[in-house]
Formats: sequence, structure tokens, C-alpha cells
Amino acid sequence: MALYTTEGIILKTQNIGEADRICTIYSPSKGKARAVARGARRPRSRFVSSTQMFVHGDFQIFTGKSLDSIGQVELKEAFPRLHDDLIRLAYASYIAELADEMTEEGDGDKRVFDMLLAYMRVLSETLDPQLVTCAFEIKFATILGYRPRLESCSECGRENLGREVFFSPEAGGLICSECSSGNSGIWRVSQGAVRLLRALLMTEFRKVERIKASPGVRREIERLIRAHLGFRLNRRLRSIDFLEAVTKAP
Ligand SMILES: [Zn+2]
Repeated sequence: MALYTTEGIILKTQNIGEADRICTIYSPSKGKARAVARGARRPRSRFVSSTQMFVHGDFQIFTGKSLDSIGQVELKEAFPRLHDDLIRLAYASYIAELADEMTEEGDGDKRVFDMLLAYMRVLSETLDPQLVTCAFEIKFATILGYRPRLESCSECGRENLGREVFFSPEAGGLICSECSSGNSGIWRVSQGAVRLLRALLMTEFRKVERIKASPGVRREIERLIRAHLGFRLNRRLRSIDFLEAVTKAP
């Protein structure tokens, strides 16, 4: 049995057996790894607090034949505010599932890890979890090679997009009005939404909450970014329903 230690962040937990818990951990070196914390659900287990969702720590992992197991966790951050506040919990759960779905086992990317950690830190403090989450989504897509094309038409390449601009998840970005005709599955995007998308891409994470945006423009870009990511995902994420339920305006 080999042993390695890696820094990581927990993206998913799953109870198995009587008292065990399988954790999906994202690490900069190994990408996603699944490992079982034996007895983690027993009240006096040393794993009670260190194998929760979003935990950032150093994980000692034994590689096994079928399933790896966690030997020890040195907890660095537990992000309690992400558990105490329902809206923050919903956003963090959504991003964790998105990251789980869009990354691979054994294929680490330090930029993905750093961005996840930065997101959890900013989300814990921010007064604008919605915009911070949109910023994560668009920056994350960019790291994975799916940056939405916002400067020129994604179909014909024309740089002057004109006043009427559309978004096409299939083309992977904005398209001009000429390319929009006869194109289904697209919709018109306001100039404000285009400006906000560009600003989110350019702005450093912890400064995102300084950006001002109206509720209408926020809804527009949220829909657009989710459609953009959704086109690249194989299934609808479970956490989306929870997120939509808790963030829906009364
Ligand atoms: Zn075009």
C-alpha cells in the first residue's frame, strides 16, 4: 500500500456502510481523488470535522486496490460560514458539484485548485454571493478552455458586433444579428450584460463585489453562463435545484 500526502479541498461527501464516508478531494497535483474516511460518522471520530464538505487541508492518503483511504487530515480551513448560511451553502454546493463534474481524476491543475480555494474564501465573506459565483463560473470555464467569446462573433468572426447581439451556447459565445437569423437555441443579450460579462472576466475575485449590476442584468448573465456551462456538461447538476429554490425572489 502506497502512501502520499497532498493538499486538497473536499468537493463531495457520500456516506457508505454504517459509519464511513467517501470524500472526493481536489488537489493541485492529483486532480480529483476519492478516498474513504473509515468511521468518520461516529461521534468521537477524529474525522468528524475534517471530512466535511469544502474542508481545505493536508490529506494523508493510502492507495488501495479498489478504494483509497484517508489516514490523517491536517485541517487548514473549514469555512463554517458556508455551512451556517443557507444561501452561501447553496452557492458553494453548486460550485463544488460543478468542479467535480468538470474535472478528472488523476489530472491536477493548480489554477483550478487555487481558484476553488479563492472562491470559498471570498464566498465566506462577500455580501454579493451571486456575482462572485458568476465570476467563478466564467473564470473557471476560461481555465478549462471554454472561455466564452465576447469580443467578436463566434460564428463569422466579425469584430463589430453592432447593437443587436445574441448568445449561442452551441457557438460558445456572442453572435452578430446576421448569424442569428435561422439560428435556434439563441437569445438576445443586452449591452449591459455584455459589459458585465467582460468586467467579471477582467476583475480580480475579491474585487468582484464592487461591480454594480441591476437585478435584470444579473439574471441575464446567470442564465447565459449556466447555458454556456450546461452545453459542456452531460447532465443537469442536482445542486442547481437547491440553489434556485433558495435564491428565488419571494
Ligand atoms: Zn456573425
